[in-house]
Amino acid sequence: MLNVADKMDKNLPGKLMALIRLIGKMADESGVGAFLVGGFVRDLLHGAVSYDLDVMIEGDAIRFAKKLADKISGKVVTYKKFGTAVIVKKWPKWLGVPPRAGSKLKIDVASARKETYEKPAALPTVRFSSLKEDLSRRDFTINAMAVNINKKDFGLFIDFFDGKKDLKRSIIRVLHKKSFVDDPTRIFRAVRFEQRFNFKIEKHTKIFIKHAVKQKMFHHTQNQRIRDELMLILREPHPGKAVFRMKELHEFKFIHPSLSLKKDAKKTFNSLTKCLKWDRTARAEDTTDEWLTYFMVMLEKLSKDEVCEVLKKFVFTRRTAVKLKSYNDFRVSTARKISRSAKMRPSEIYAILKPLEREVILYTMAKVKSEKAKRRVKKYLTELERVTLKIKGHDIAAEGIKRGPRYTELLRRVLYKKIDGKITTKREEILYLKKIVK
Ligand code: ATP
Ligand code: MG
Repeated sequence: MLNVADKMDKNLPGKLMALIRLIGKMADESGVGAFLVGGFVRDLLHGAVSYDLDVMIEGDAIRFAKKLADKISGKVVTYKKFGTAVIVKKWPKWLGVPPRAGSKLKIDVASARKETYEKPAALPTVRFSSLKEDLSRRDFTINAMAVNINKKDFGLFIDFFDGKKDLKRSIIRVLHKKSFVDDPTRIFRAVRFEQRFNFKIEKHTKIFIKHAVKQKMFHHTQNQRIRDELMLILREPHPGKAVFRMKELHEFKFIHPSLSLKKDAKKTFNSLTKCLKWDRTARAEDTTDEWLTYFMVMLEKLSKDEVCEVLKKFVFTRRTAVKLKSYNDFRVSTARKISRSAKMRPSEIYAILKPLEREVILYTMAKVKSEKAKRRVKKYLTELERVTLKIKGHDIAAEGIKRGPRYTELLRRVLYKKIDGKITTKREEILYLKKIVK
């Protein structure tokens, strides 16, 4: 049997190895078997380092996770129904430099379990069982490998389904033909991994996907699970390509029956990727929901009512709902307005873009054809949006005006004057205010 301990020592940072050995030692002390599984093992064999640890325990995972969380001072969330737990921890100093600013350490702990499907596509019920049975319930061969981390057999590589071979052959393959019937969200996952690694969905697997789509298996799937997998796809580095692949495999039916793509969608996706890249470097704040801008391109062919149907069906967060409403209200008119060929005052640009959510602004930026229009949007996002007034409501009161809608109107006029560069100091703001009050 293959042992990958040397490979781990070579490829993984020493501090991460120390953590893995600690988990193994604690498992020894508790008298349970412990394995690394899933994406972590796949990435290890693929030559990448992942800090999302998937740990499988041959025993009580929740009890073990609590102990481990205690030891490393992490927070633990348990899911009794599934016998699983997640430990999350702000990046600890002892783990060295984080892969990205703001990275967290995440350890999933599960019990080797047997999932019997009460009815197809329902959530699995859980019963303890062996490692092989657990691995046989996983989505793809490349995600169904395991590495033992107990001291005695540290690094022992377990691969019942030829995951290593498939990784080498660059293919995404399910473990059995009913896989997508058991869990149709795997159809989304197949595309996600295929596109991420530039692999190919293996030909039988593709036939199984078609079969599951034909059987309308998605009617039996929880919409929230579909939503989560969809969001994961749209969060990958190149979602455009993945969206086309989803269309090819008829996955759009899972989202909305009338979902389709506009003829120029490919161009829009490419343009959007560039705009988002610009957005990331041009501005310090990091609050753009990038996945949502890609989703907006996907929804282009739906009517307003249909977009609302999607919103309701997938129970998106309030934040997302607000942004999609803004998209519904402004998606068509804004691109046209901002592309006007005649010269535009900065305050006119401001007036057009101010009511929009930032994601809709970036979507618009990707949609407009002329460089001039793109420049206007950039100007808004980097300069105009930030202009603020020095005067406040009490300065208007000082002019003897009663509180009311006129306040807002006066402030707006002073602001526009400032945006247009006609005034800058507080004194000038007050002088201009006095002038328009008269
Ligand atoms: P990523 O790098 O995107 O996190 P991952 O493989 O770690 O990829 P996760 O969604 O984190 O994916 O899931 C962890 C593991 O759990 C997977 O590798 C897979 O073995 C298993 N898994 C997750 N979702 C499913 C599913 N729907 N059906 C079967 N197994 C699944
Ligand atoms: Mg993962």
